[in-house]
Amino acid sequence: MDLSRRDTLLGTAALAAAPLMTSTQVNAAAPVADKQAPSYYRYKVGDIVVTVVSDGKNVFPLTDAFITNAKKEDVAAALEKAFMPPGMMAIYFAPVVIQTGGKTVVIDTGTGALSKVNSKGNNGLFHDNLAAAGFDAKAVDMVVISHFHTDHVNGLLTADGAPAFPNAEVLVPATEWKFWMDDGEMSNAKGDRMVGLFKNNRNIFEAALKKKVTPYEWNKEVAPGLTSVESIGHTPGHTSYVLASGSGKVFIQSDVTNNPNPFATHPGWHAFFDQDADVAEKTRRRVYDMVVAEKLQVQGFHYPFPGLGNVVKDGDGYRVIPAPWNPSI
Ligand SMILES: [Zn+2]
Repeated sequence: MDLSRRDTLLGTAALAAAPLMTSTQVNAAAPVADKQAPSYYRYKVGDIVVTVVSDGKNVFPLTDAFITNAKKEDVAAALEKAFMPPGMMAIYFAPVVIQTGGKTVVIDTGTGALSKVNSKGNNGLFHDNLAAAGFDAKAVDMVVISHFHTDHVNGLLTADGAPAFPNAEVLVPATEWKFWMDDGEMSNAKGDRMVGLFKNNRNIFEAALKKKVTPYEWNKEVAPGLTSVESIGHTPGHTSYVLASGSGKVFIQSDVTNNPNPFATHPGWHAFFDQDADVAEKTRRRVYDMVVAEKLQVQGFHYPFPGLGNVVKDGDGYRVIPAPWNPSI
């Protein structure tokens, strides 16, 4: 055997051994993950299965404009006390799906497909997580909307602007519908934000959904076990819900508060996005006094995921105690 032939043989042998080598490296490190697991969380209220489906979160620097009646320094101090990142505010988004009386009902729809692009995947994740939770948007029977802000209605459409729930009946609060569809209110809108909201709502409900919605009143059972409750201020027709089945009962608050830190701890602080801040504060105190008195669990759209907790009175404010993660349903 000459040297060159021997080298060639050895080389071949080494190549042949290579795949074997890698398959026997049992201690190889797992690939480093750069994504969280799909975020959804299930629990039961009587016979009703609730699935909280995260849309993600938005983290941004605090500004003086964020809370209209408190100093940025005071807000920052309150957030620091809650161990939030210094100088930053975090807003979470979590619609829920309920399976009740043989129907699949989605309550609010997240920030939408464009927000997923603009936020680089930090939010706009509702539809991805809905699919990960095993739901087909085409099989959703009803979509119930709490109010007409972008983080609640934009997920009604796909990235192409088509209805995202093509076979669902879309239910909207009658008062909310009347306000945003009123041309006089639209022409009276002050400031870029309100003008933009009118434009966005007309685009979704007129251009895309062709006004095919069912307005609902308050104190009505809008789906089996789901009763609408007036909680105005944040918007003119803002709506919360009581979900009840058997001995189970949960208050689905929508945006009575945003993140409990700082809006439950400081119920008198007015966020710029509360349309009538004084009424919103009255509602906040009334609703939170009620859930404290009744020891009613609250599902909060803007609570840190998965957004289920109990509320206790704490000085002039309230504290939300998150429900422990339950590994079974
Ligand atoms: Zn909201």
